[in-house]
Amino acid sequence: MLEIQNLSHTYPNGTVALDDVSLSIPRGMYGLLGPNGAGKSTLMRTVATLQEPTSGTIRFGDIDVLAEPQRLRRTLGYLPQDFGVYPRVSAYSMLDQVAILKGITSASERKQVVETLLNQTNLWGVRYKSLAGFSGGMRQRFGIAQALIGNPELIIVDEPTAGLDPEERNRFLNLLAAIGDNVVVILSTHIVADVADLCPRMAVLANGRVQLEGKPLELIAST
Ligand code: ADP
Ligand code: ADP
Repeated sequence: MLEIQNLSHTYPNGTVALDDVSLSIPRGMYGLLGPNGAGKSTLMRTVATLQEPTSGTIRFGDIDVLAEPQRLRRTLGYLPQDFGVYPRVSAYSMLDQVAILKGITSASERKQVVETLLNQTNLWGVRYKSLAGFSGGMRQRFGIAQALIGNPELIIVDEPTAGLDPEERNRFLNLLAAIGDNVVVILSTHIVADVADLCPRMAVLANGRVQLEGKPLELIAST
């Protein structure tokens, strides 16, 4: 369970991106829905310990996330909105390097982890191709592969379907759905259908505040 309490964030220029956000997020898929500028990325980066909030607390199981960021990072899989630069390195080699950084020191164990993930994400056939040449859908599937290394218990995926065609979108969402109910998976998106199809629970964020929280079908029926 991820417990976010009274979280606020004001950027140095005065923009209030989060305004007293409290959410209890259970295991399984959880949707964070909101328009551009709602504060989703700020919230996801804060939970991922990439930035500190102005105030509030975050707990994940027995981890006090803001006080013990290193402990959270060991059990976090994070796929940022823009996964950034794609180096001229093969998918295989990049996953192997991520596995080293996540502390998998045994080469045979890494081989097994990397090969399993390449298969799961349908990237086996392009494992020796350069990431720089990957399409948007391939990049997102690669992003999930790297996020899953080390069996994280918390996975954060920020706006993953932007720019994907319908087939790639479905492939990607099916990958997320296959992660299972023992992991907290937060899917941040501005696309209602992404959440409605996959998430037993969701929150709607707008102007940095939680507007609604509950089951997607009930929320859609009530608006
Ligand atoms: P999103 O699509 O999540 O709204 P943006 O496209 O607004 O993200 O922002 C992209 C990057 O620019 C992010 O790193 C964000 O922190 C930064 N950014 C967004 N708005 C501002 C701003 N008003 N001033 C400075 N940086 C900003
Ligand atoms: P979302 O992910 O829902 O699009 P963001 O968290 O990116 O929302 O942005 C929330 C608000 O904070 C927006 O008004 C955005 O312009 C602003 N913002 C984001 N990053 C920065 C930043 N680094 N500096 C100033 N304002 C920012």
